[in-house]
Amino acid sequence: MIRRCDACGEAEARVAQRHTGRALCSRCFREDLLRRLGEEVERYRMFSPSERVLLALSGGKDSFVLLDLVKEVHDPGRMGIVTVIEGVEGYNRADDVAWIADVARSYGIDLHVASFKEFAGLGLDELVSLDRSRGLKTSPCTYCGVLRRRIINHYARTLGYDRVLTAHNLDDEVQTYVMNLLRGDRVRLIQGHPLSPTLSRYFVKRVKPLRKIYEWETAVYAFMRGFKFQETECPYIRFRPTLRAVVRDYLYEVERARPGSLLRILEAVDRYVERELLPEASRLGELPQCSVCGSPTAYSRRTCVLCDLLQKIGLPARLPF
Ligand SMILES: [Zn+2]
Ligand SMILES: [Zn+2]
Repeated sequence: MIRRCDACGEAEARVAQRHTGRALCSRCFREDLLRRLGEEVERYRMFSPSERVLLALSGGKDSFVLLDLVKEVHDPGRMGIVTVIEGVEGYNRADDVAWIADVARSYGIDLHVASFKEFAGLGLDELVSLDRSRGLKTSPCTYCGVLRRRIINHYARTLGYDRVLTAHNLDDEVQTYVMNLLRGDRVRLIQGHPLSPTLSRYFVKRVKPLRKIYEWETAVYAFMRGFKFQETECPYIRFRPTLRAVVRDYLYEVERARPGSLLRILEAVDRYVERELLPEASRLGELPQCSVCGSPTAYSRRTCVLCDLLQKIGLPARLPF
């Protein structure tokens, strides 16, 4: 006997949502995701109809889901996409960029393809080998994260976008919250909240419309919509921070035992940050600027992390910000 969808009562149920106890058909599942995304966008005023939004897409399944859902709730004429090619041998992003370009073209969305090579003069592999040749052991993920953020903000700022949208999902966001709780990092906790103020006039506000969608839901949705997974793993994955892996495994166990836990943790930390930390955020003030390149940098620093990284490997590059 087939099970009917708990929402429409007609079509065959295809997706079992453990956190709601419901089984949904493909159409109702899509509507459920759209509704939850819409509520989150509305609740935190992530972007308004008149604003120009830049989607930062890596090319994976979460990127696909973000693009597919946001174009339903926002005018594609006010959307842009930026995708950053790191320059990692064997981690071919050409296919990822191809589908992004196809979708951008068919909906009239502006596409900007950026690369480490073009922006910094060197790709990630070259940066890492330069690092190693100087006897350093900087994690490739450090170069990657810092450069990627710089490039995405640069495009958003210089091209006049009002918001940057990233494809982080619920799992990503809860992991980050828990890591920052464990480190006692109040500034990062504030920055993880959708209502956090931008701490520099040079930063374009980043928002995460998928923050209440489970990662398994983005995977199922992408599959249902016929998205072809490449998901070639980055060869530098073994250098990823270990704390995130520990936290991720722990949270999966909790979610398995008590479906809905991730949502409840996110909402609880959201409320805590709103009540306890956001009131002090208004006193944080404008971030200082790097004395070398002018980019905003942390309160305690004189130069930015990127300038320090490049200087250590002998590149006197003062990159734009
Ligand atoms: Zn249904
Ligand atoms: Zn700098």
